[in-house]
Amino acid sequence: MKASLIDKLCCPMDKHDLNMRVFVKHEDGDIIEALLTCPECRRYFPVISGVPIMTLDEYRDKSIEAPTLQRWGVTPAALEGENNFELKEEELLAASGPKALDAPELPGDEG
Ligand SMILES: [Zn+2]
Repeated sequence: MKASLIDKLCCPMDKHDLNMRVFVKHEDGDIIEALLTCPECRRYFPVISGVPIMTLDEYRDKSIEAPTLQRWGVTPAALEGENNFELKEEELLAASGPKALDAPELPGDEG
C-alpha cells in the first residue's frame, strides 16, 4: 500500500484516525508490512503483503494473525487470553512514536 493511504484509512469500528508502525517497506516508499493501531479503541490491524487487514472483529481469526505478530515482536493483549483485538499500552506507544516509520527498505525490483 502507498504510505499516503494511511491518511485515508480510519478505524472500522469508531472511524478514528489510525497510527502506523512500519516493519517492511520498498525503497519507493510502498508499505509491505506494518501494524495499524487505533488510539481510541486500541485495536490493531495488520498490513500483510501490502494489504491492510481491516475487517470487523467477528470476521477476524487470531490464530491466522498470531504468527505475523510474533515475527514482528508484537504482543497484543488479545494473545493473553482476552477475546479481543486490542494492543497493550506499550505496543500502542511504539506504533505512534518517532521511530514508528523507521523501517528497513527492500530492493525496488519486487512487486
Ligand atoms: Zn478504533
